[in-house]
Amino acid sequence: MNTDTIAAISTGMTEAGIGIIRLSGDQALVIANSIFDGKDLTLVDSHTVHYGHIRSGSEIIDEVLVSVFLAPKTYTREDVVEISCHGGITVLRDVLNLVFASGARPAEPGEFTKRAFLNGRLDLSEAESVMDLIHSKSSLSRKVSLSQLSGHLSNEIKILREKILHETAFIEAALDDPEHYDLDGYDSKLKDMIEKEWSSDIERLLHHYSEGEYLKNGIRTVIVGKPNVGKSSVLNRLSGKEKAIVTQVPGTTRDILEEQITLEGIPLIIIDTAGIRDTEDIVEKIGVERSEKELHSADLILFVMDKSSGMDQEDKRILSLLPTDVPCICLLNKEDLDSVYVSEAESMNERFDAVISLSAKEGTGFQFLKEEILKLFFHGSLSDPDEIYVTNQRQKYELDQAMNSLSLVVKTIELGMSEDLYAADLMDAYRYLGLI
Ligand code: GDP
Repeated sequence: MNTDTIAAISTGMTEAGIGIIRLSGDQALVIANSIFDGKDLTLVDSHTVHYGHIRSGSEIIDEVLVSVFLAPKTYTREDVVEISCHGGITVLRDVLNLVFASGARPAEPGEFTKRAFLNGRLDLSEAESVMDLIHSKSSLSRKVSLSQLSGHLSNEIKILREKILHETAFIEAALDDPEHYDLDGYDSKLKDMIEKEWSSDIERLLHHYSEGEYLKNGIRTVIVGKPNVGKSSVLNRLSGKEKAIVTQVPGTTRDILEEQITLEGIPLIIIDTAGIRDTEDIVEKIGVERSEKELHSADLILFVMDKSSGMDQEDKRILSLLPTDVPCICLLNKEDLDSVYVSEAESMNERFDAVISLSAKEGTGFQFLKEEILKLFFHGSLSDPDEIYVTNQRQKYELDQAMNSLSLVVKTIELGMSEDLYAADLMDAYRYLGLI
């Protein structure tokens, strides 16, 4: 039971029209009331808003609206008070300090949601999705978090758990009372159910795990190529902004530029590297070494060549440095110029996941590039926000464990062993799913 009252600024720490301070706990009303000039907040109805002033002694700090929410119909299931102040940071800080001086303590990051979880208002996957929602990097990942928050994943898991529990109860009953329950032929029925229904339900959730990860954290995309082929220009085209310094002197993109862009709702973390090449310049060399490191941790590599000058030894050297286990798209840039036929690249369809001609200058070819990227990471179909995504490692772990337990059940059945042996594994699967 949490008896202390917590408080925090619930809106961003920037200058804004209004800012909200939220209190939650047994003493929320008493504390707010002790600094509020207006109606007696301890006597008002739930879900009501009250006009007044926050004062420190005789000094008025701000003119505010106070919203009162009485337990249990609140986010945390405790008494909650929200003080809407004028948005200046100093005003918010002053009011918050008064709230602390009157008996509340600072909320830890995520503590309101933690209380909602502990008080049974949210289940764990819903609480996690609140955190994901706050940190979501794109509109699509926001929709996915919202869908989890409204319990889509929880419901799916609940249905599966009910089925497993039903079968376990049947086995236990049959073992206790063999006269009334017949286990003849039950083994193969259960094996069928696991293999054809339950496993595929879990597999479907797991299948979307990597997609969920990309949606949540973005696809780490490294742009490589020798200097002057147009890497920074490609990045600028993709992001629609002038970020990298684009010049005609080879070797100007010395440091790693990281940029987040959103491609049809999917976050892409783009990393523009120093042109990888043999260099004596020490500053540039550091950039080059970092580029090589980035390559190995990437989800996607965009290898840029200049279509107007063809493929030379330097392109080939960079190509030889690319890790073979990371998806790679070859971009033949500057298609607006007279092109030298880059036959080597075009005939390397096996090495690349796609070879695309484009012009960063004119903006042509970028639609193909976007489609290819989505195809590579989302199996051709752009994510449906109503689809259920498992976006978090903990959930994936429990799903894997449940899957293992179910395969043990199948193995035990295949070995012709008795029901009480696999009933235990069945219960394990039930428990693992429950942890989600
Ligand atoms: P980086 O060194 O690989 O990052 O290359 P930059 O993006 O700095 O581009 C090098 C030069 O090529 C600049 O002068 C760009 O304006 C030019 N450039 C880049 N893309 C294109 C393109 O598609 N067509 C043409 N004609 N020039 C381009």
